[in-house]
Amino acid sequence: APGWPFWVGTSWKMNGLPDDARSYAERIAAVDDWHGVLPFVMPPFTVLADVARLLRDSPVQVGGQNMHWDECGSWTGEISAPMLRQCGATMVELGHSERRRHFGETDQTVNLKVHAALRHGLTPLVCIGETQAERDGGVADLILARQVRLALHGLTAAHVGRVMFAYEPVWAIGEAGRPAPPELVAQAAAGIRQELDRAAGAPGVSPPLLYGGSVNLENAAPYAALAGIDGLFVGRAAWTAEGYAALARAA
Ligand code: PEP
Repeated sequence: APGWPFWVGTSWKMNGLPDDARSYAERIAAVDDWHGVLPFVMPPFTVLADVARLLRDSPVQVGGQNMHWDECGSWTGEISAPMLRQCGATMVELGHSERRRHFGETDQTVNLKVHAALRHGLTPLVCIGETQAERDGGVADLILARQVRLALHGLTAAHVGRVMFAYEPVWAIGEAGRPAPPELVAQAAAGIRQELDRAAGAPGVSPPLLYGGSVNLENAAPYAALAGIDGLFVGRAAWTAEGYAALARAA
Protein backbone atom coordinates (compact mmCIF):
# COMPACT_ATOMS: atom_id res chain seq x y z
CA ALA A 1 0.00 0.00 0.00
CA PRO A 2 1.15 3.53 -0.55
CA GLY A 3 0.35 4.12 3.15
CA TRP A 4 2.90 3.20 5.79
CA PRO A 5 3.66 1.25 7.86
CA PHE A 6 4.14 -1.80 5.65
CA TRP A 7 4.64 -5.27 7.12
CA VAL A 8 6.92 -7.90 5.64
CA GLY A 9 6.99 -11.17 7.51
CA THR A 10 7.80 -14.80 7.01
CA SER A 11 6.82 -18.14 8.46
CA TRP A 12 9.54 -20.75 8.19
CA LYS A 13 6.91 -23.48 8.51
CA MET A 14 8.65 -26.77 9.47
CA ASN A 15 12.15 -25.59 8.61
CA GLY A 16 15.04 -24.37 10.73
CA LEU A 17 17.42 -26.57 12.70
CA PRO A 18 19.26 -24.67 15.45
CA ASP A 19 22.44 -23.80 13.51
CA ASP A 20 20.56 -22.52 10.47
CA ALA A 21 18.04 -20.68 12.62
CA ARG A 22 20.77 -18.89 14.55
CA SER A 23 22.66 -17.90 11.44
CA TYR A 24 19.43 -16.60 9.81
CA ALA A 25 18.64 -14.56 12.93
CA GLU A 26 22.17 -13.17 13.16
CA ARG A 27 22.05 -12.07 9.53
CA ILE A 28 18.78 -10.24 9.81
CA ALA A 29 19.79 -8.77 13.17
CA ALA A 30 22.64 -7.16 11.24
CA VAL A 31 20.32 -5.37 8.80
CA ASP A 32 20.77 -1.76 9.84
CA ASP A 33 18.01 -0.09 7.86
CA TRP A 34 14.60 -1.65 7.16
CA HIS A 35 13.49 1.46 5.26
CA GLY A 36 10.28 1.79 7.21
CA VAL A 37 9.22 -1.84 6.80
CA LEU A 38 7.88 -3.61 9.91
CA PRO A 39 9.65 -7.00 9.85
CA PHE A 40 8.67 -10.23 11.60
CA VAL A 41 9.72 -13.88 11.49
CA MET A 42 7.85 -16.97 12.68
CA PRO A 43 10.26 -19.84 13.33
CA PRO A 44 9.40 -23.31 14.67
CA PHE A 45 8.84 -23.52 18.45
CA THR A 46 12.11 -25.39 18.98
CA VAL A 47 14.24 -22.40 17.97
CA LEU A 48 11.87 -19.57 18.84
CA ALA A 49 13.57 -18.56 22.09
CA ASP A 50 17.00 -18.56 20.43
CA VAL A 51 15.79 -16.51 17.47
CA ALA A 52 13.96 -14.05 19.75
CA ARG A 53 17.08 -13.59 21.88
CA LEU A 54 19.24 -12.86 18.82
CA LEU A 55 16.68 -10.35 17.52
CA ARG A 56 15.94 -8.71 20.87
CA ASP A 57 17.71 -5.45 20.04
CA SER A 58 16.46 -5.33 16.44
CA PRO A 59 13.12 -4.12 15.04
CA VAL A 60 12.29 -7.67 13.92
CA GLN A 61 9.36 -9.15 15.84
CA VAL A 62 9.15 -12.87 16.46
CA GLY A 63 6.03 -15.02 16.47
CA GLY A 64 4.83 -18.58 16.85
CA GLN A 65 3.14 -20.41 13.98
CA ASN A 66 0.25 -21.69 16.12
CA MET A 67 -0.72 -22.06 19.77
CA HIS A 68 -3.40 -23.50 22.00
CA TRP A 69 -6.19 -21.34 23.47
CA ASP A 70 -5.74 -22.59 27.04
CA GLU A 71 -2.97 -21.41 29.34
CA CYS A 72 -1.82 -24.78 30.61
CA GLY A 73 -3.16 -28.22 31.37
CA SER A 74 -3.79 -31.59 29.77
CA TRP A 75 -3.18 -30.75 26.13
CA THR A 76 -0.39 -33.07 25.04
CA GLY A 77 1.86 -31.64 22.38
CA GLU A 78 0.47 -28.12 22.55
CA ILE A 79 2.05 -24.72 23.30
CA SER A 80 0.29 -21.87 25.12
CA ALA A 81 0.29 -18.09 24.79
CA PRO A 82 2.23 -17.57 28.05
CA MET A 83 4.86 -20.05 26.79
CA LEU A 84 5.24 -18.08 23.57
CA ARG A 85 5.47 -14.83 25.50
CA GLN A 86 8.15 -16.19 27.81
CA CYS A 87 10.18 -17.27 24.77
CA GLY A 88 10.15 -13.70 23.51
CA ALA A 89 7.34 -13.92 20.95
CA THR A 90 5.16 -10.87 20.42
CA MET A 91 3.02 -12.33 17.63
CA VAL A 92 1.31 -15.59 16.73
CA GLU A 93 0.10 -16.89 13.38
CA LEU A 94 -3.35 -18.47 13.56
CA GLY A 95 -5.52 -20.38 11.11
CA HIS A 96 -3.01 -21.01 8.35
CA SER A 97 -4.62 -23.09 5.60
CA GLU A 98 -2.20 -25.96 6.23
CA ARG A 99 -3.43 -26.11 9.82
CA ARG A 100 -7.05 -25.82 8.75
CA ARG A 101 -6.60 -28.56 6.18
CA HIS A 102 -4.32 -31.06 7.93
CA PHE A 103 -4.81 -30.41 11.64
CA GLY A 104 -8.47 -29.68 12.10
CA GLU A 105 -8.20 -25.94 12.72
CA THR A 106 -11.61 -24.29 12.38
CA ASP A 107 -12.97 -20.74 12.50
CA GLN A 108 -14.13 -21.56 16.05
CA THR A 109 -10.72 -22.67 17.33
CA VAL A 110 -9.11 -19.70 15.58
CA ASN A 111 -11.53 -17.45 17.47
CA LEU A 112 -10.65 -19.04 20.83
CA LYS A 113 -6.97 -18.56 20.02
CA VAL A 114 -7.45 -14.91 18.98
CA HIS A 115 -9.02 -14.21 22.39
CA ALA A 116 -6.19 -16.05 24.18
CA ALA A 117 -3.51 -14.21 22.21
CA LEU A 118 -4.98 -10.80 23.06
CA ARG A 119 -5.41 -11.78 26.73
CA HIS A 120 -1.69 -12.50 26.87
CA GLY A 121 -0.43 -9.55 24.87
CA LEU A 122 0.36 -11.39 21.65
CA THR A 123 -0.65 -9.93 18.28
CA PRO A 124 -2.63 -12.58 16.39
CA LEU A 125 -2.04 -12.80 12.64
CA VAL A 126 -5.12 -14.60 11.33
CA CYS A 127 -4.79 -16.30 7.95
CA ILE A 128 -7.89 -16.48 5.79
CA GLY A 129 -8.40 -17.63 2.22
CA GLU A 130 -10.72 -19.44 -0.13
CA THR A 131 -10.04 -22.72 -1.90
CA GLN A 132 -10.00 -23.02 -5.69
CA ALA A 133 -13.41 -24.72 -5.57
CA GLU A 134 -14.86 -21.87 -3.53
CA ARG A 135 -13.49 -19.30 -5.97
CA ASP A 136 -14.77 -21.28 -8.97
CA GLY A 137 -18.15 -21.58 -7.26
CA GLY A 138 -18.42 -17.81 -6.86
CA VAL A 139 -18.47 -17.89 -3.05
CA ALA A 140 -14.94 -16.62 -2.30
CA ASP A 141 -16.13 -13.28 -0.90
CA LEU A 142 -18.74 -14.96 1.28
CA ILE A 143 -16.16 -17.40 2.65
CA LEU A 144 -13.67 -14.63 3.38
CA ALA A 145 -16.28 -12.48 5.13
CA ARG A 146 -17.34 -15.45 7.26
CA GLN A 147 -13.75 -16.28 8.20
CA VAL A 148 -13.20 -12.67 9.30
CA ARG A 149 -16.47 -12.47 11.22
CA LEU A 150 -15.93 -15.73 13.08
CA ALA A 151 -12.27 -14.99 13.88
CA LEU A 152 -13.32 -11.71 15.51
CA HIS A 153 -16.43 -13.05 17.23
CA GLY A 154 -16.91 -11.66 20.73
CA LEU A 155 -14.13 -9.05 20.56
CA THR A 156 -14.78 -5.44 21.52
CA ALA A 157 -14.30 -2.93 18.73
CA ALA A 158 -11.13 -1.73 20.48
CA HIS A 159 -9.66 -5.24 20.45
CA VAL A 160 -10.44 -5.73 16.76
CA GLY A 161 -7.78 -3.13 15.94
CA ARG A 162 -5.13 -5.28 17.66
CA VAL A 163 -5.59 -8.23 15.31
CA MET A 164 -3.78 -8.63 11.99
CA PHE A 165 -5.02 -10.57 8.97
CA ALA A 166 -3.32 -12.25 6.01
CA TYR A 167 -5.31 -12.93 2.87
CA GLU A 168 -3.83 -16.17 1.56
CA PRO A 169 -5.84 -17.88 -1.19
CA VAL A 170 -5.39 -21.60 -0.57
CA TRP A 171 -4.64 -22.15 -4.27
CA ALA A 172 -1.83 -19.59 -4.15
CA ILE A 173 0.13 -21.14 -1.29
CA GLY A 174 3.09 -23.48 -1.25
CA GLU A 175 4.73 -25.73 -3.82
CA ALA A 176 1.53 -26.30 -5.81
CA GLY A 177 0.44 -22.67 -5.58
CA ARG A 178 0.43 -19.96 -8.20
CA PRO A 179 0.56 -16.30 -7.27
CA ALA A 180 -2.83 -14.58 -7.23
CA PRO A 181 -3.25 -11.85 -9.86
CA PRO A 182 -2.90 -8.44 -8.15
CA GLU A 183 -6.34 -7.34 -9.46
CA LEU A 184 -7.93 -10.35 -7.78
CA VAL A 185 -6.09 -9.58 -4.54
CA ALA A 186 -7.27 -5.95 -4.70
CA GLN A 187 -10.86 -7.02 -5.21
CA ALA A 188 -10.77 -9.62 -2.40
CA ALA A 189 -9.02 -7.14 -0.10
CA ALA A 190 -11.78 -4.57 -0.62
CA GLY A 191 -14.41 -7.08 0.52
CA ILE A 192 -12.31 -8.15 3.50
CA ARG A 193 -11.74 -4.52 4.47
CA GLN A 194 -15.48 -3.86 4.51
CA GLU A 195 -15.94 -6.71 6.94
CA LEU A 196 -13.01 -5.52 9.09
CA ASP A 197 -14.34 -1.96 9.20
CA ARG A 198 -17.74 -3.28 10.21
CA ALA A 199 -16.18 -5.28 13.05
CA ALA A 200 -14.03 -2.33 14.15
CA GLY A 201 -17.05 -0.04 14.14
CA ALA A 202 -15.26 2.63 12.11
CA PRO A 203 -13.08 2.79 9.03
CA GLY A 204 -9.41 3.55 9.57
CA VAL A 205 -9.00 1.69 12.87
CA SER A 206 -9.43 -1.80 11.50
CA PRO A 207 -6.64 -4.43 11.35
CA PRO A 208 -3.73 -4.46 8.91
CA LEU A 209 -4.33 -6.81 5.98
CA LEU A 210 -1.36 -8.63 4.45
CA TYR A 211 -1.20 -10.69 1.27
CA GLY A 212 0.43 -14.13 1.20
CA GLY A 213 0.80 -16.88 -1.39
CA SER A 214 3.81 -17.45 -3.65
CA VAL A 215 5.21 -13.98 -3.04
CA ASN A 216 8.67 -13.66 -4.58
CA LEU A 217 11.13 -10.97 -5.66
CA GLU A 218 9.37 -10.44 -9.01
CA ASN A 219 5.84 -9.97 -7.72
CA ALA A 220 6.48 -8.32 -4.33
CA ALA A 221 6.39 -4.75 -5.60
CA PRO A 222 3.06 -5.03 -7.50
CA TYR A 223 1.37 -6.52 -4.42
CA ALA A 224 2.94 -3.89 -2.19
CA ALA A 225 1.56 -1.18 -4.46
CA LEU A 226 -2.06 -2.29 -3.94
CA ALA A 227 -4.12 0.24 -2.03
CA GLY A 228 -5.81 -2.34 0.20
CA ILE A 229 -2.71 -4.29 1.19
CA ASP A 230 -0.65 -3.37 4.27
CA GLY A 231 2.03 -6.00 4.05
CA LEU A 232 3.35 -9.27 2.65
CA PHE A 233 3.45 -12.63 4.38
CA VAL A 234 5.98 -14.89 2.75
CA GLY A 235 6.86 -18.57 2.89
CA ARG A 236 9.38 -20.18 0.58
CA ALA A 237 10.96 -17.03 -0.88
CA ALA A 238 12.00 -15.90 2.61
CA TRP A 239 13.45 -19.14 3.92
CA THR A 240 16.95 -17.68 3.60
CA ALA A 241 17.98 -14.53 5.41
CA GLU A 242 19.15 -13.02 2.11
CA GLY A 243 15.83 -13.84 0.43
CA TYR A 244 13.91 -12.29 3.28
CA ALA A 245 16.00 -9.12 3.42
CA ALA A 246 15.75 -8.71 -0.37
CA LEU A 247 11.95 -9.01 -0.21
CA ALA A 248 11.76 -6.41 2.53
CA ARG A 249 13.78 -4.07 0.31
CA ALA A 250 11.63 -4.86 -2.76
CA ALA A 251 8.45 -4.00 -0.89
C1 PEP B 1 2.15 -19.33 3.32
O1 PEP B 1 2.01 -20.53 3.34
O2 PEP B 1 1.66 -18.60 4.19
C2 PEP B 1 2.91 -18.76 2.21
C3 PEP B 1 2.79 -17.48 1.99
O3 PEP B 1 3.70 -19.65 1.53
P1 PEP B 1 4.47 -19.44 0.14
O4 PEP B 1 4.98 -18.03 0.13
O5 PEP B 1 5.56 -20.44 0.16
O6 PEP B 1 3.45 -19.68 -0.93
